Amino acid sequence: MSKRVRSREVCADCSAPEPRWASVNRGVLICDECCSIHRGLGRHSSQVRHLTHSSWPPSQLQMVQTLYGNGANSIWEHSLLDPSSSASGKRKANPQDRVHPNKTEFIKAKYQMLAYVHRMPCRDDDSVTAKDLSKQLHSSVRTGNLETCLRLLSLGGQANFFHPEKGNTPLHIAAKAGQILQAELLAVYGADPGALDSSGKTPIDYASERKTAVGKTMFATGA
Ligand SMILES: [Zn+2]
Repeated sequence: MSKRVRSREVCADCSAPEPRWASVNRGVLICDECCSIHRGLGRHSSQVRHLTHSSWPPSQLQMVQTLYGNGANSIWEHSLLDPSSSASGKRKANPQDRVHPNKTEFIKAKYQMLAYVHRMPCRDDDSVTAKDLSKQLHSSVRTGNLETCLRLLSLGGQANFFHPEKGNTPLHIAAKAGQILQAELLAVYGADPGALDSSGKTPIDYASERKTAVGKTMFATGA
């Protein structure tokens, strides 16, 4: 989108002005230097794309910009927003920090260890928690609230969760509801556009049934 929007943005990790890269699966914009560290984490941790030199599916770029504009970075820095964290010496990187070790250690802690993410209360059984998160994801994709879905996915919600009572996956729900940005986010997290629901239909079937721009562009690129 516009230069005007980006010029107000700062790097999600070190606050350097005018970030030129995006981490697609984290919903953040980052500077050249932090991007080089993201690349070193591998695609599982961060999928980076240049904002202007990469070719983007328009709705995927919109998904990332919406996430960042709505404060998705606070998902990854939740505990740093607490004033008591500065007293403990925890802080985010700043543009003057050295790449090694300062920025690298911060970025690894932030995205690989999820050191600053708000955790759910501990449960005895992790599989129960994952199921709860997936059920929450299943209902949240119906809405436009991308940050909630990103938070649920980051905590262990499953993009391909087959809801036993509803008989479908989150991507079926997003497709039926015409939530194209939610569909893009789910696709980044590996949702299968060819999964069958209990009626034998796929998310692609529902998207094309809508016979709208949404149906035409949704899943144009796959994951
Ligand atoms: Zn940076």
